[in-house]
Amino acid sequence: MTGPVQTDLLIVGGGPVGATFARVLHEQAPHLRVLLIDAGPQLTARPGQHVKNIPDPAERERAQVASQGPAQYVYGTPAIGARKAAAETNVTGRPALLARPGTFLLSDANGEAGQLPAAALSTNVGGMGAHWTCACPPPGNAERIPFLPDAEWDAALHTANRLLAVTQAAYPETGAAVAIREALNRAFKDVLAGGRPAQPMPLAARTEHGVRVWSGADVVLGPLADGGHPTFTLRPETVCQTLLRSGERVTGARLLDRASGEVYEVQARAVVVAADALRTPQLLWASGLRLPALGHYLNDQPQVLGAVQLDPRLLPAGSGPAAGGVSWVPFHAPAHPYHGQVMELEASPVPIPVEHDTGTPVVGLGWFCAREVRFEDHLEFSATRTDDLGLPAVTVHHTLTERDLSVIEAAKDEVERAMRALGRPIAAGRPFVLPGGSSLHYQGTTRMGERDDGSSVCDASSRVWGTENLYVGGNGVIPTSTACNPTVTSVALAVLAASAIVRQLSTSPQAAPV
Ligand SMILES: Cc1cc2nc3c(=O)[nH]c(=O)nc-3n(C[C@H](O)[C@H](O)[C@H](O)COP(=O)(O)OP(=O)(O)OC[C@H]3O[C@@H](n4cnc5c(N)ncnc54)[C@H](O)[C@@H]3O)c2cc1C
Repeated sequence: MTGPVQTDLLIVGGGPVGATFARVLHEQAPHLRVLLIDAGPQLTARPGQHVKNIPDPAERERAQVASQGPAQYVYGTPAIGARKAAAETNVTGRPALLARPGTFLLSDANGEAGQLPAAALSTNVGGMGAHWTCACPPPGNAERIPFLPDAEWDAALHTANRLLAVTQAAYPETGAAVAIREALNRAFKDVLAGGRPAQPMPLAARTEHGVRVWSGADVVLGPLADGGHPTFTLRPETVCQTLLRSGERVTGARLLDRASGEVYEVQARAVVVAADALRTPQLLWASGLRLPALGHYLNDQPQVLGAVQLDPRLLPAGSGPAAGGVSWVPFHAPAHPYHGQVMELEASPVPIPVEHDTGTPVVGLGWFCAREVRFEDHLEFSATRTDDLGLPAVTVHHTLTERDLSVIEAAKDEVERAMRALGRPIAAGRPFVLPGGSSLHYQGTTRMGERDDGSSVCDASSRVWGTENLYVGGNGVIPTSTACNPTVTSVALAVLAASAIVRQLSTSPQAAPV
């Protein structure tokens, strides 16, 4: 192992959120030393790139498998029909049906996923952000954290959009796209409010010379991904085994270099753990932190799916095969406690077979549901069993309530309404709910709170209660009942937290604590 064992900020987790902390520190205080570690391999020469940008399919597949922690093999393709069968027959534990390429199931990592059989993780530089669909809707009314002032939210979301390079123009505006959105707005005019009609999905993607380029952690790192910055170090294949603590301070961490097997300590003036919503609380727990809310309030958004072949009468003459990218039917509580996505095949994370091709495009419809956020839904960490990284094995306790089940039924009605507005269903029967955990949007396990009353893990700047210099990042920080895809929200919260860290490190003594 070479390089610094003292740093100003240690960041555990090289996904989009860990990258946000590094970038904001670099922008606001470039003299501060940052060490960013990730347990997984670096997949691309430029660290953290989205694997969809790798042009060679074999190389892309290798990168996906390399991200799959203990599941180092190629999965079968889970087409929508297979997923429907899995959902309806409650098949569990079958990676070919449940896990997406680039992710692995919690159950593969010695975890017990309970009612979230599709609970999944990624272990690679870039995290799930090397495999995501890049939908970045801003949170709606009740999804926003009520104790954060609006101006602060808006500024942080603005920065998050810049860091992720979010745009509503990632896909060209086609006649089909306009027709889809007009049909959705007609169908949902009674529930869409708050100035948020159906519109192009904000996507962390761009089109360059006719080719879509998807944002990964490399885009968030910006100039840091180019290398050559003496105050920034990235160490792949490095596991944080435990945080080192002295009273209310975290003094550093014990790290494992997976390539050499060497275990060493790093001293840090502040530490961020942004290791996803399952493994951030796991690491805090492994480090002896026992906050009452740690690992609790686990929130997985149920996801209802359908697919439809567009009605030719909807489409302008000569509109071609393109189905207009991704359209967004926004959340607005209480009338529309869902977040709807209508996606053309290229953008859909679930492959959709076209069974009866009439020449008009097929689109997938995915509605995420907001559910009750409850203390009872939690992660349990084993005192005896370990996972693939040697950390305490995770067991999920997560139960849908009566209210959740009725929201899911209502979401099926909403998807049917959208399908009627757009064309002809490609599979018989009602829209169906994917197996629990399929959202890949787990939240709440290190939730933010206004005060230290036992119902939250961190304060409004993401600093863990009862510590002076330990911060958390990622979807686990989100405390509200959301339906929207969470990454842009988590990046916004990380922007606020990183600014707080800059303030703290700029006013506290320079030397790393010994
Ligand atoms: C197929 C797919 C589609 C998705 N689509 C969307 C979407 O459209 N919109 C959206 O908002 N979100 C989407 N998501 C979710 C999105 O990718 C995540 O919200 C986002 O990546 C979270 O970022 P993060 O940095 O918090 O965590 P991650 O990206 O999960 O990164 C966490 C990192 O921590 C590392 N780590 C864990 N434990 C340790 C340890 N002990 N030591 C060192 N490193 C550790 C892991 O290796 C991992 O790289 C999707 C995900 C997938 C897989």
